[in-house]
Amino acid sequence: MNKTILFGGLTPLHELFIKGAVESLGYRAKFLPTPDNQSLKVGREYCNRGMCNPTYYTVGNLIKFLKEESLKGVDVENRYTFVTVGACGPCRFGMYETEYRHALREAGFKNFRISILNQSELSSEGDFKLTPKLTWNLIKAVWLADVVRDLGYQLRPYETEKGSVDETIEESSKEIYSLLKEGAGIKELISSLKSLRRSLEKLDFNYTKVKPVVSVIGEFWAHTTEGDGNYRIHRWLEEQGAEVRPEPIAGWIDYQLFIEKEKAKRDISVKGFSLPRLKRLLAVKALSVALRGLYNLFRAPFSFRPKPLPSQKLLAELAAPYFDYFVVGGEGHLEVAKHVYSVKYKKAHMVLSVKPFGCMPSTQSDGAQVKVLSDYPNSVFISIETSGDGEVNVKSRVLMKLQEAQKVALKEFNEALNKLGLSHSQFKEVFSLREFRKPFIKLSKDYIGTSARALWGNRSKVISSSQPSFEAV
Ligand code: SF4
Repeated sequence: MNKTILFGGLTPLHELFIKGAVESLGYRAKFLPTPDNQSLKVGREYCNRGMCNPTYYTVGNLIKFLKEESLKGVDVENRYTFVTVGACGPCRFGMYETEYRHALREAGFKNFRISILNQSELSSEGDFKLTPKLTWNLIKAVWLADVVRDLGYQLRPYETEKGSVDETIEESSKEIYSLLKEGAGIKELISSLKSLRRSLEKLDFNYTKVKPVVSVIGEFWAHTTEGDGNYRIHRWLEEQGAEVRPEPIAGWIDYQLFIEKEKAKRDISVKGFSLPRLKRLLAVKALSVALRGLYNLFRAPFSFRPKPLPSQKLLAELAAPYFDYFVVGGEGHLEVAKHVYSVKYKKAHMVLSVKPFGCMPSTQSDGAQVKVLSDYPNSVFISIETSGDGEVNVKSRVLMKLQEAQKVALKEFNEALNKLGLSHSQFKEVFSLREFRKPFIKLSKDYIGTSARALWGNRSKVISSSQPSFEAV
């Protein structure tokens, strides 16, 4: 293909790695800038009325870019083609393709071509062909970005030199991008992850800062983007003193496979057994196991510190009293399931659900969250609606919840400290030793907050280090 492929809408790290994967097949690729409020404005101008926010942001972002390029004298219709993900609904996601075409026509780009990747059938329509090799390269790219991004969010809040984690990740990301572009195999990719680990090990961390862990869930695009579309909520929370748990994109693909698997099972039980139905079920099961295995393989170089993908079966069971997993569209039962999972399995001190303006599935989930809250009254939960404006109000509501979460995190930490009979100053003193200032120190699974996990995970060493030595006595 002579044209440059345009894509976008995820996080900068995902986009860089996806660019490498696409280029490995000989395509020229370019990712669009992160959608901002100007994109929303442009989207509202050219899209139909009544769309959800992600439609306006992403469609507007493409048109904004094409207009800017046209002003520079670029013949955009012949230079570029756009690739996006599509589906048959049932929410407005099913209308994205039509909306892109409609808005492009309205904006004066009637010959601009777009290709659609069908997320549930792993197929493509248009100039861009989704071959098995490209699919595999894309999966590696997305999984790598998920793991590295997760690690960044876990380490950054404790770095002692501001910006050191980002700088290290940025350096290594360039290397991972080059490897993906060369079509490198798993072994080479893992060795680049190991080299990232070595670089991170040179940095200094302070785990004595007790921080609330905030899980950011919600509608897929709204909880993924790192721009105006969710008021840059991840980084903002971090600035306010939180440790953020972002959602991996792999989790979304794992969910799609789970639904396909359940549909295949239902077909066998309702329509009867047949070899093609069994083959389909086994193929989806095998793919799901392989992809989860790959995710763990990429977590391994970091002592499995990036979070594992939760079991989809467990998530469906947790959501069952509130939401049927066959009700698909948007995140389906996942918003409710992730909330219950965080509270019941102590994964976060606070859950923040991001709902884009005009999103039907998130509105349904919010209804069910009311019942979840009455069943789990200790949950620190907040749902916010992102509409492009009202940022100050939204953030002040989140800040109030964050204070609650901070109190919960402190209480948890003090409990751990009291159990060991240590004072806060003893803890600080021990954790000023170099051995406790490394990125990959042992973390216990018994607590949520990183300080409490670090304390409990190293309790015997901490106790022995805090005993006065013979000479001192
Ligand atoms: S899940 Fe909501 S925001 Fe996302 S495409 Fe569907 S309706 Fe729009």
